[in-house]
Formats: sequence, C-alpha cells, structure tokens
Amino acid sequence: MYTEIRREAYEANIALPRHGLINLTFGNASAVDRDKGVFAIKPSGVDYDELSPENMVIVDFDGEIVEGNMRPSSDTPTHRCLLMAFEGIGGVVHTHSTKATAFAQAGRAIPNFGTTHADYFYGEIPVTRKMTPEEIASAYEWETGNVILERFKGLNPLDFPGVLVNRHAPFTWGKSVAKAVEVAVAVECIAEMALMSIQINPGLQAIEQELLDKHFLRKHGATAYYGQPE
Ligand SMILES: [Zn+2]
Repeated sequence: MYTEIRREAYEANIALPRHGLINLTFGNASAVDRDKGVFAIKPSGVDYDELSPENMVIVDFDGEIVEGNMRPSSDTPTHRCLLMAFEGIGGVVHTHSTKATAFAQAGRAIPNFGTTHADYFYGEIPVTRKMTPEEIASAYEWETGNVILERFKGLNPLDFPGVLVNRHAPFTWGKSVAKAVEVAVAVECIAEMALMSIQINPGLQAIEQELLDKHFLRKHGATAYYGQPE
C-alpha cells in the first residue's frame, strides 16, 4: 500500500546525497498523502544505498506507524508537525548541508542578496529562535517543529519554503517532496553565494524590492509567467 508516497519519499531521500547535501546519515525526506492522512519517511539510521521504496516507513498524523518494520527517522515528529500545519505542502526535506548549516549555527537568517535567492524566497531565509532547555529536554523533535511554526506566524510557507533552525540546520518544503529537494539544493547554493557576497562586500544590503518582486512574482502567485503552465 501507499505505493506513490513510498516511491516519492524514496526518490527524494536518495537524491540528497546525489546532490552533495548529505554526509553520513544526517538528512531525511518525507512525502504526504493528505487523502489518506499518512506520510512516508526514511527509516532511522539506514544507509542511503540500502534504501528502497519498500523500507520507507508509513506514519499517520497521530505519529503512529501504519506500515513498516523499521523505526522511522528520529526527526519524524518535526516532519509531522510541519506537514500538519502547512496544509499546502506535499513533503519536507531536512539536511545538514554545510553552508546553510553554518548560517543556522551562527543564528543568522540568510539575507536576500540577489535573484537566485529571490526566485525561491520572497525575502530572507528565516532563522528560528534558539530552543529553550525545557523544549530540548521534552519532546525535542516535536518542539523543533513548534519553533519553526512560531517563526512562521504571519509568513506564508509557500513564499518562504524553508527555514534555518538555530544551532541546527535547514528544513525545506514544497508542493511536492521533489520540490522540497530542489529548494534544499537552492538553499545550499544561496548560502554559499551569500557567504561569498558578504566577503566581497561586507556592507552589502538586501536586494531592491522591485527586483525581488519581479523575480519572485514571475515564478509564484497569481500573475506568474515563468515556465510552462501547469
Ligand atoms: Zn538535523
């Protein structure tokens, strides 16, 4: 059962090391089936070359395993929290890709310095606040989701399809999990370019509003004209 989300989650997970976003097993992807109220996610601690559609774990919105013999990724509660709250998304990706994680560890949002960034985010790539000792000691992975939701009060998750968790690393999402993988790749490129731009010009300011509008809105929203109609 759940053939489609098993395949989508599997393909997203194996794409992460192929894109150079993953060292060891620090990363995971999930794909949701909203009609059935379940999502498929990577099994915990399994090497990427041992993954298959069959060993993806199917979990419901109560956090119960619906299908699968292995434990799901330890980050499953964060995925569940985001998939439940952001109703327009089809999947979530988490990596510890190096440059984006450097910003996360430093507790800094990635300023929007140019059109590559503006094609994906309608502003900076936001960073959460640090988690409290109580949050870390309790349901840590679920609370990680909650600090992300706190940061997204008043933000449309499709205008800002990712976040840096303070002291941790990026989470990204999209209308499909394949799109969430693409955003994860973009976030790492954007982080690298931002680092270099700051080195070249330490006083650099964020992109001008009219150029941000032009690039973001031509690809997203009601008046989008980039690419082919869906
Ligand atoms: Zn992590």
